[in-house]
Amino acid sequence: MSYSYEAPVSQALFDRASVVTPGGVNSPVRAFRAVGGTPRFMVSGDGPYLTDADGREYVDLVCSWGPMILGHSRPEVIEAVQAAVARGTSFGTPGEGEVALAEEIVGRVAPVEQVRLVSSGTEATMSAIRLARGFTGRAKIVKFAGCYHGHVDALLAAAGSGVATFGLPDTPGVTGAQAGDTVVLPYNDLQAVRDAFAAHPGEIACVITEASPGNMGVVPPREGFNAGLKELCAANGALYISDEVMTGFRTSKAGWYGIDGVAPDLMTFGKVMGGGFPAAAFGGRADVMAHLAPAGPVYQAGTLSGNPVATAAGLAQLRLLDDAAYAKVDAVSAEIRGLVSDALGKEGVAHRVQTAGNMFSVFFTSDEVRDYEDAKRQEAFRFTGFFHSMLADGVYLPPSAFESWFVSTAHDDRAIERVAAALPAAAGAAAEATGEGVRA
Ligand code: PLP
Repeated sequence: MSYSYEAPVSQALFDRASVVTPGGVNSPVRAFRAVGGTPRFMVSGDGPYLTDADGREYVDLVCSWGPMILGHSRPEVIEAVQAAVARGTSFGTPGEGEVALAEEIVGRVAPVEQVRLVSSGTEATMSAIRLARGFTGRAKIVKFAGCYHGHVDALLAAAGSGVATFGLPDTPGVTGAQAGDTVVLPYNDLQAVRDAFAAHPGEIACVITEASPGNMGVVPPREGFNAGLKELCAANGALYISDEVMTGFRTSKAGWYGIDGVAPDLMTFGKVMGGGFPAAAFGGRADVMAHLAPAGPVYQAGTLSGNPVATAAGLAQLRLLDDAAYAKVDAVSAEIRGLVSDALGKEGVAHRVQTAGNMFSVFFTSDEVRDYEDAKRQEAFRFTGFFHSMLADGVYLPPSAFESWFVSTAHDDRAIERVAAALPAAAGAAAEATGEGVRA
């Protein structure tokens, strides 16, 4: 199946990129491997729209995989960035912007008493795990199948996101020693966690979980699951780490914590808090954070950590994210979810739209999806035709059936009407799909 005819300039760029960059992309989910065709090279973004190198405009339902919660090129964010750039781009010293961003995070998320800024979600989870191990003096960590925490060696066991998209059971390059202390359990299964603590007494440093997973598609925690994790960790001397890189400052002012109120020992953040720049963070209990260098012995550092341009962007974005902004994103999400469900329902396509706050994804199955095994049982082949029909009609979706969709405050009636107009044909394509000759 080839879709390259639709985007000659993107195709030419992709050909060039493929010579100098493995697979032609700098992050695997950007390639269209799961759906086929040519990845669109984007040249600009404005509000809810992206424009590609062929001059075609799309309603963006990816929002840079979460960060662009105010839409693209929001004037206040751009102005803050321009002002910061004009003062210089990196000093390698502390700066006031870092303090202000840390205060904003601490002010929003009660369990975060102290926070350390880093540059990517991967760095945040990697550092949080090192800190948990250093704090407890234990080696083993528990993660859940289908949860993605960045490309940290120890966390690339049964991960979601691109790893789910490509069906990689694991990745070469991660040694047995690096992954050997990782215990992978089924998501939403507290008994499995109880059993793991019983099987490894005094050995588990932490349980890390996505606060509400979005990397196997959206699979929210069952009632009491996160609270149960916290209790089991506390009872067994382990730390409970909630990865809010995706949910943080997106699902509410205080992220998923603002919805379920379960206070973790450590939390990780990224995406929204960087305003489209590389900024991320991990934080939590002050007594745990006190173990980090230079206050304590657990080493962690970064040349560009707390970069002044990134912190200016993040701070400007967070300051605009008030209750009204979240109400707007929630309303846009509900409207689009309803439109998708109506369109698929009219075509008789078995589906479930699962939600976590304003995050949502579409599973091609009528059964509830509670974990990674359920997610993999969906008829993912139906997504290919659905995706390409939406793309052809000017709607940019995540190019995988295992990813969350993201919306923003900038998605106005015109953008939503364009989504509505594209859906009937896409639902028809999903209905017609047979799965023959299509990669799973
Ligand atoms: N944790 C979660 C829950 C994520 O969704 C991601 C990225 O999608 C990461 C960690 C890694 O973040 P980054 O891509 O910034 O390294």
